Amino acid sequence: MRMLIMGPPGAGKGTQAAQITSFCGILHISTGDMFRAETKESTELGKKLKSYLDSGQLVPDEVTVKVIEKRLQKPDCEKGFLLDGFPRTVPQAEALDGILGKDGLDLIINISVDSAALLERLTGRRVCKQCGKTYHLLYQPPQDEGVCDNCGDELYQRSDDTRETVSNRLEVYQNQTAPLLDYYAQRGIVRDINGEQSIDDVFQEIKKVIRGIV
Ligand code: ADP
Ligand code: ADP
Ligand code: ZN
Repeated sequence: MRMLIMGPPGAGKGTQAAQITSFCGILHISTGDMFRAETKESTELGKKLKSYLDSGQLVPDEVTVKVIEKRLQKPDCEKGFLLDGFPRTVPQAEALDGILGKDGLDLIINISVDSAALLERLTGRRVCKQCGKTYHLLYQPPQDEGVCDNCGDELYQRSDDTRETVSNRLEVYQNQTAPLLDYYAQRGIVRDINGEQSIDDVFQEIKKVIRGIV
């Protein structure tokens, strides 16, 4: 099973990806998570990545494609994977076609949410420092304020989840990522999901789609 989850920043990709991958027993591959991990290292690459992430700009295609190519070559990918946040541009999608060869992707889940709701979701998002679990101040609060239910570590706000950077990211999505839906449309593997429902209802809808293809 090779899947891709798409949607604008804040649509709920990461939240749903965590549930889908545990339901299907496949890997969750998020370029955003991989890049954030690298920015914590004080390497040249880490510093460069941080400047792209903090301004809400995309990391250049050459860098992104190299990182994902290396990841997809690891043997643990053989049991299947869910790509989250990659591809984000048409050249990245073309590169992915080259990497995957003729079997390609089995399913693309496209989550839609309107932009006012996205802004609210992103500015209220909090993430665990340790295990990466995602919360929301209103929609998915932890049991104890500021503390992860999973591992007890501290929650933080991503440096790109500020009002300013969010509007940049939404624009980048419209200009560079939304055109991918046309790129993939004719393959007949895109399924649109209404992301403006509870987290659980969104997951139920996704499960129906997955059951329909296996
Ligand atoms: P993405 O990976 O697409 O950027 P996330 O999964 O991180 O999105 O979700 C963004 C924020 O919105 C998080 O704070 C998350 O808790 C919250 N969220 C996710 N899905 C929903 C939903 N269906 N309804 C309300 N809030 C949601
Ligand atoms: P969100 O789901 O909230 O949009 P991500 O965690 O997927 O956020 O991505 C965070 C940032 O990482 C992006 O704003 C961008 O700077 C960088 N990034 C992630 N994936 C890619 C990609 N495929 N191509 C270029 N930049 C990327
Ligand atoms: Zn945690």
